[in-house]
Amino acid sequence: MLNIELHSNTVELLKIDYVPDHWPTPGTYQYLGSHIQKPWEGGTAYSGYTEQLQRFNNIKEILKPHKDDWVDCHCIAALVPYDEEERFDVIINGLHMCDVVLNLKSLRKLNGIKTPITTCNAKIDGGGYLSDGRHRSYNIMLDLPRSKKDILSLQRSKEKSQFNNKFALKVIQDFYKNKFFELFNHQCFKCGSIKRLDIDHHIPIVLGGHLVPGNLVALCKTCNNKKHDCHPNDFYTQSELKTLEPLLEKQKDILKFNFDQDYWHCDRKGYLISLGVEPSLVHEILNNPNHPYYIEPAALQNPDMVITIDVSDLLDAIAQDNPVNNKERKQ
Ligand SMILES: [Zn+2]
Repeated sequence: MLNIELHSNTVELLKIDYVPDHWPTPGTYQYLGSHIQKPWEGGTAYSGYTEQLQRFNNIKEILKPHKDDWVDCHCIAALVPYDEEERFDVIINGLHMCDVVLNLKSLRKLNGIKTPITTCNAKIDGGGYLSDGRHRSYNIMLDLPRSKKDILSLQRSKEKSQFNNKFALKVIQDFYKNKFFELFNHQCFKCGSIKRLDIDHHIPIVLGGHLVPGNLVALCKTCNNKKHDCHPNDFYTQSELKTLEPLLEKQKDILKFNFDQDYWHCDRKGYLISLGVEPSLVHEILNNPNHPYYIEPAALQNPDMVITIDVSDLLDAIAQDNPVNNKERKQ
C-alpha cells in the first residue's frame, strides 16, 4: 500500500508514483476531473483553451513513459481545498489537473478533510487516437475513501435487516416488535412519551453494541436523537440504569425466536396461532389479498437464506479507523 506523509507543501508531498501497466488497487473510483482532451487545430472550440492545453501537458508529463499509448496507471492525487467551500484543486503527482466542485454527498465521502490536503489513490486511463487523428481523452478517477460515518450507517442498515429477517414474515416481525414495546409499556424509557417510538441501541454501534436482544431500549425519536452515540452512563441516571437492567435481560427471552420452517410448511395457520397471533388476524393474512400482511401461498421461500451477514471487516475498519475498500471498480 502507498504510504504518504502529510506535509504542508503539496508539491513536495507528491512524489511521482507511477507504475506502468499496474492496475490500481480495488476501490471505488469516482470519475471527477471531467475528461482532459488534447486541443487540436481546427477542432471544437471550447472555453479555457489555455488551461486545457496546460492540463494536457501536465497529464503527458505524468504519463511520459507511455507517450501516446493507451494507459491505465496508478497515481496519487491530492485534493486541496480552494477558497470556496466544496471546491478543490485536484493535483496529481504534483501537477495541477483541474478543480472540482464536490457536492455535499461526495464531500461527506471524503474522509474528514480536516487537514489542508487530502490524498488518495488516483487512476488515469484513456489515450490512443481516434480514426480522424484526434487524441482520445484521458479519464481521471479518484479513489475516495468511505468515511467512518458511511461505514457505520452501512452497518446500521445491515443489522436492521438482519434483525428483521430473523422473523421471516412481516406479521411475525411486527408481532415481536410489539412484544418488545410492551415490555416498555409502549413508552419512551427516558421521557415517557408514547409518540414515535424507536428501538435504540443501548450500547451504540460506534462503541461496539449491536441490534440484538439485550441491547435494545424503547426511546422516542427525540430522546433517541439526543442519546445519539452516547454511552448509556453518559445519558441515563444511575437509577434509570438500574431500572433498565431487568428490561434488557427480559428482552432476551421475549425476542428469542427461530422461524420453524417445517411447522410453517405443514400448517401455516396453526403455526401463526401457536406463536400467539390473533386467529382472526391469521385468517385475514392467509385469505385477504388486500391485507397488508397478506401471504400468497408460495410467497415464502427459504426465509433463513438471508440471516447470516458478516460485518467483521467493517468492524475491523472502524477499529483501525481505516476506509473499507469496495471491491467493485466503478468507472
Ligand atoms: Zn423520549
